[in-house]
Amino acid sequence: MNNRHSLASCFPLCFGLIVAMGLVMGARAQDEPTRSITQIGEDLYRAQNNIHHAVFLVTDDGIILADPINTGFSTWLKSELDRRFGVPVRYVLYSHHHWDHASGGAVFEDTAQFVGHENMLNHIAMPPADTSLPVNASGQDENGNGQLERSEVSGIFESRFDLYDEDGNDAISGAEATRGALKEVRAPNLTYKDRLTISLGNKDVELIYTGNQTHTDDMSIIRFPDASAIFLVDWVSPSRLPFATLGTGMLEAWLNAIRLAEALEYDIAVGGHGVVGDKADVTAVRHYLEELRDQVATGIAAGRSMEELQASVLMEPYQSWQNYELWRALNVEGMYNLLTP
Ligand SMILES: [Zn+2]
Repeated sequence: MNNRHSLASCFPLCFGLIVAMGLVMGARAQDEPTRSITQIGEDLYRAQNNIHHAVFLVTDDGIILADPINTGFSTWLKSELDRRFGVPVRYVLYSHHHWDHASGGAVFEDTAQFVGHENMLNHIAMPPADTSLPVNASGQDENGNGQLERSEVSGIFESRFDLYDEDGNDAISGAEATRGALKEVRAPNLTYKDRLTISLGNKDVELIYTGNQTHTDDMSIIRFPDASAIFLVDWVSPSRLPFATLGTGMLEAWLNAIRLAEALEYDIAVGGHGVVGDKADVTAVRHYLEELRDQVATGIAAGRSMEELQASVLMEPYQSWQNYELWRALNVEGMYNLLTP
């Protein structure tokens, strides 16, 4: 009886404690990223930060890293590399300028050169100070003073506030909002136009420009000839659907960029997202886009609406790919928009 009584009287408090502990543990599990390092080829490794991945090549004279991802990841990776290999990162290569792949490189700036396509510099440069807030930001400017204060923001401007706020004055200006969340993207000090080979420790790494295409105009394929591998980020993700609504305006350029990747020599195709695959996985992304294009084009010609096509274009052979449930309908929407400019 006494036991039951004490259990019963304990219940609200104990239950509250258990819930609170669960919340703390849940929050901790959410905050702490999933990180790992996997060898995928001769001296070539893939490093994971949740759904983002970098690759790095180890040589006797140092490490060549492709994509630093963010400061937390790079800080962790630096200590792992020191512990496992005992040689410094000599090159940080960028796949492209986007904040979620290119941030954090400064962690390696004591020992590394930074390399990317020359168009990266245009994206990193701050637009003129009198640039007004872009349409995706102006709706949040409640006091109408032309900038976003911390108290006003929501969505990406809230979650990435400090990465937008380049001058750290606690407000996102029109120029800062237009440029993007790039505060922690360390600019390349070595750029190239078409192709560039980096040599270190008797090994070569090649950067190959994809041309201006749907995802961005500063995209590099990074090729590791000794390991027979290429690194592809965002515009080709092996065994993952293309991102959301696909991007704007350049479907043929995108397909041609994939054909360029298919024509290179390699056995391993490793994504910044998706899985570690091979050349057939790169070709499969082109086939996916071509099949999606053909089905959506046929529907448009038959007078179907975008909503009708979202319901009928199911891309069933690709059901096993990552983000099929999440992005299939958005991919249909994106293709509809690409085909009806
Ligand atoms: Zn990107």
